[in-house]
Amino acid sequence: MIAATGFAKRKVAVFGLGTSGLATVRALEAGGATVLAWDDADAKRAEAAVAGFNVVDMRDWPWAEIAALALSPGVPLTHPEPHPAALAAQTAGVKIIGDIELFQRAVTASGTGAKIVAITGTNGKSTTTALIGHMIRRCGGEAQVGGNIGKAVLELEAPTPATVYVIEVSSYQIDLAPSLAPQVAVLLNITPDHIDRHGTLEHYAAVKARLFENQTEGDTAIISVDDALSQDICTRVGARRLAKVVPISVGKTVGRGVYAIDGTLYDNAGTQAVKAGDLKEMRTLAGAHNWQNAAAAYAAGRALGYTREKIFAAFESFPGLAHRMEIVAERDGVRFVNDSKATNADAASKALGAYRTIFWIAGGKAKEGGIESLERLFPHVVRAYLIGDAAANFARTLDGKVDYLQCGTLPRAIEAATRDAMANEAEMRVVMLSPACASFDQFRNFEERGDLFRREVQRVLAETGGAAA
Ligand code: ADP
Repeated sequence: MIAATGFAKRKVAVFGLGTSGLATVRALEAGGATVLAWDDADAKRAEAAVAGFNVVDMRDWPWAEIAALALSPGVPLTHPEPHPAALAAQTAGVKIIGDIELFQRAVTASGTGAKIVAITGTNGKSTTTALIGHMIRRCGGEAQVGGNIGKAVLELEAPTPATVYVIEVSSYQIDLAPSLAPQVAVLLNITPDHIDRHGTLEHYAAVKARLFENQTEGDTAIISVDDALSQDICTRVGARRLAKVVPISVGKTVGRGVYAIDGTLYDNAGTQAVKAGDLKEMRTLAGAHNWQNAAAAYAAGRALGYTREKIFAAFESFPGLAHRMEIVAERDGVRFVNDSKATNADAASKALGAYRTIFWIAGGKAKEGGIESLERLFPHVVRAYLIGDAAANFARTLDGKVDYLQCGTLPRAIEAATRDAMANEAEMRVVMLSPACASFDQFRNFEERGDLFRREVQRVLAETGGAAA
């Protein structure tokens, strides 16, 4: 655990007692602060009280004595409207911060020189964070991975001179971390998302841009130039001439940057482009979206001083993240892919675009728009196996374009898809769950759905003889 420094013997209010909120309370207490903790939910307050924390009704907080309000990133700071806790703090003139702010201050105060690599973007944050963490470890470094993924940042181990923190930060967390100053900062992409929480796309982009604001000479800013908002940030950060800017792209060549063309990664450090490696060979980094993640990770690896060879060796052994195009088995030329995290058509489009001969399991609790936007990828699908509430609706979209089978449940879909894929003669076939739907009609969450996929694939393969690779 990391003790939060700078608030010893002072009162700090903490609102929001989820995983990161409770870690914040613990870290502040370890640093000698007196914490007043509160949450809107009875269950969360009860949990905090059982843990021995000082649960005090927000309406009784003595604002005049409170040094800061630590707000959970899930609690609205501005949009659609400020939460009453945020409003009360603003009225009292009390600073509002988040756990990333406390983390940054503690790392700086430690004087260890521990490094921070921070990753943000609309999509691909978790994958890129995990990939960079894996790469650092494979290259012999001491990575501590957390933030929005896995552990809360204040639950990570205390800094040492060798520590490299790799943290995934959402815009909400950046908004609450005015001191954040990563040695390596990554912006993957900006597309409309979470606008409810940020008002406008421009405000959302402005918050993301703050990730680079405290960077200085010797730091590295890795920024995509594939969407207009990110490209604009890249230009502006470059104009400040402080951090070294490394533009990244998939599909375009960029000077003094890193880019992927047809799955080959190039590194142009300023004089000429050299081929850095072949991403098509990386089984857990399939698809153009993953090439963007890999380009960012590669640039981060170079900024940390690793060689091209070591970085690519690390990519090769990357296990991937569960439920995101996760390869769960392979047998006789058939690959089984769990993409349960694809809860909408846009996410499913990445997976459908990454393979050519797909036996596609889709359906669940329907999202607006269905799968009409996926039509250009239908040629990749040999047959669709439909499950859940959305099945009838999906069937209407597929009618006359793609062969489909109504399966009702996931186990039945896996059985049928496996049978067809095994009988097909294409060189590489893929049985893939990429539902383009939420899971709540038949499952508690997408993890439960993906776990069932994994188990059922093993069962079906065991029944058809031999162990899966
Ligand atoms: P996040 O943490 O930002 O939600 P993840 O790494 O968990 O991102 O990936 C979630 C989904 O987003 C993946 O299943 C994939 O469909 C899609 N995705 C991953 N990387 C990218 C990217 N670079 N650009 C666009 N979409 C992506």
